[in-house]
Amino acid sequence: MREGSHVIVLPFPAQGHITPMSQFCKRLASKGLKITLIIVSDKPSPPYKTEHDSITVIPISNGFQEGEERSQDLDDYMERVQTSIKTRLPKLIEDMKLSGNPPRALVYDSTMPWLLDVAHSYGLRGAVFFTQPWLVSTIYYHVTKGSFSVPSTKYGHSALASFPSFPMLNMNDLPSFLCESSSYPNILRVVIDQLSNIDRVDIVLCNTFDKLEEKLLKWVQSLWPVLNIGPTVPSMYLDKRLSEDKNYGFSLFDANVAECVEWLNSKQPSSVVYVSLGSLVVLKEDQMMELVEGLKQSGRFFLWVVRDTEKKKLPRNYVEETGEKGLIVSWSPQLDVLTHESVGCFLTHCGWNSMLEGLSFGVPMIGMPHWADQPTNAKFMEDVWKVGVRVKEDVNGFVKREEIVRRVGEVMEGEKGKEIRKNADNWKMLAREAISEGGSSDISINEFVSMFC
Ligand code: UDP
Repeated sequence: MREGSHVIVLPFPAQGHITPMSQFCKRLASKGLKITLIIVSDKPSPPYKTEHDSITVIPISNGFQEGEERSQDLDDYMERVQTSIKTRLPKLIEDMKLSGNPPRALVYDSTMPWLLDVAHSYGLRGAVFFTQPWLVSTIYYHVTKGSFSVPSTKYGHSALASFPSFPMLNMNDLPSFLCESSSYPNILRVVIDQLSNIDRVDIVLCNTFDKLEEKLLKWVQSLWPVLNIGPTVPSMYLDKRLSEDKNYGFSLFDANVAECVEWLNSKQPSSVVYVSLGSLVVLKEDQMMELVEGLKQSGRFFLWVVRDTEKKKLPRNYVEETGEKGLIVSWSPQLDVLTHESVGCFLTHCGWNSMLEGLSFGVPMIGMPHWADQPTNAKFMEDVWKVGVRVKEDVNGFVKREEIVRRVGEVMEGEKGKEIRKNADNWKMLAREAISEGGSSDISINEFVSMFC
């Protein structure tokens, strides 16, 4: 490795962004790059080395004082994060240069496009990292360019939009912020802005793999210098022969691995419904009740992640009364869970990381999308990959308990379940192929590394 084989990686401070970008760091480190991973966090602390000697983590402040309540206003949050990064990053880069370890590129999260100019002003190449699929980015791009506009009412529009290799999209398949722009104007601006300066970016990285979005890929590659590097799940989970460690990368939450694995060990193969709605989804209380009842009436064993902030919505004594039938945890070791033979299906909110993980491990899915790109990801899962089903909402936007029972039955048994499992096995193989030595994502990662080594 020559001097300067060093890049900085800077994810947006949310789990769904930190996970894939920190996993990407591990891949880069295993191929000879030195990495500084900057984590914007509530608790800034001194830099430390990970178990990979060539990855240094630098936690920096998100701009909130210790004990200060974190703002719910995204504008305020983004501004504080931006100010904090703009204050710290230049000094960090200068220090790296002085210590003989100059960085050559900044890999930054697509939700912070202003980092491109910061990178360029310090002589670094700017590599944007998208944690969402190309289909979603493409939709935002067309909105930015004015070539696709979303009708203003939610109902009565079918077959709205068509994209290469993808079924027609209805209103409720589109990223939610486009349809609910009046409810989330700030978030809409952030997601649309991701593509605002993409024409000037030096390298465009995406956590997807070529076969997953084959036809769309040709189009995006004709516009930008694209490298698909996913799925970013640790290869150890895809192939037990590989020696890479099982570490998840940097996590904002703690999981009790032994508790989950021991509980799963006590269950029959393919008998458990794993339920996780990711790190951000907040359910209405009555929706939570429908899920409680749906799982109960399905008669299946279930392992359910209910974050601490969501627990108050569960019925009193629920955890005790569930007994052996269910294990409720505030965070799970999701990769260990999805690769456990007792898990028969994954009831998911369709966050892109969860989708890629379910797909990579061949786990049949039940999609219960909530917002953001989740409805579009659910469409992928149900109608393109055909590895699961999406629950139907009633006219008030609720998923009723009967629907949950019906979908669990459909996926866990019967003809449809068999078909889904067959497709899931096929995608699992393709995902594994992409990141194995010589696979499309492995080649892309090598290409990235060779630009700096
Ligand atoms: N995750 C986990 N344990 C949990 C729930 C989620 O490790 O109990 C991980 C999951 O494996 C995924 C990430 O957190 O990598 C969540 O990202 P995703 O894009 O699925 O959803 P988000 O949290 O961004 O909505």
